[in-house]
Amino acid sequence: MDCLFCKIVAGDIPCTKVYEDDMVLAFKDIDPKAPFHILIIPKNHIKSAAEINGENSEVVAHIFEIAAKIAKDENLEKGFRLVTNCGEDGGQTVSHLHFHMLAGRSLAWPPG
Ligand code: 5GP
Ligand code: ZN
Repeated sequence: MDCLFCKIVAGDIPCTKVYEDDMVLAFKDIDPKAPFHILIIPKNHIKSAAEINGENSEVVAHIFEIAAKIAKDENLEKGFRLVTNCGEDGGQTVSHLHFHMLAGRSLAWPPG
């Protein structure tokens, strides 16, 4: 399948890994928008948040659990943002579900 993040999961494209288990991979974003910016993705290909259903939603809960663990490990006690862009208007550029975890500066709200 011609999917960038599936290739990263397979090891065909290198990444800077932050966390990995049998369900998820977390790695540094190549173009960071904050001092701390990682992507947390399911290893299985899911196109976007719009494809989440009763069959595959378990991995989303797991991603939030791992984000909380990473926040502790990385000492992000001032907070962080966990966000997924979905579809064209959501600003999604890679069609494999991913959660941006951003921290290390005060983040604007609402987003532009
Ligand atoms: P989106 O725009 O879909 O919400 O997020 C895609 C993210 O993937 C962007 O923040 C972009 O910088 C990141 N990205 C794109 N290509 C690569 C890559 O090859 N390696 C890594 N580590 N991140 C990438
Ligand atoms: Zn994929």
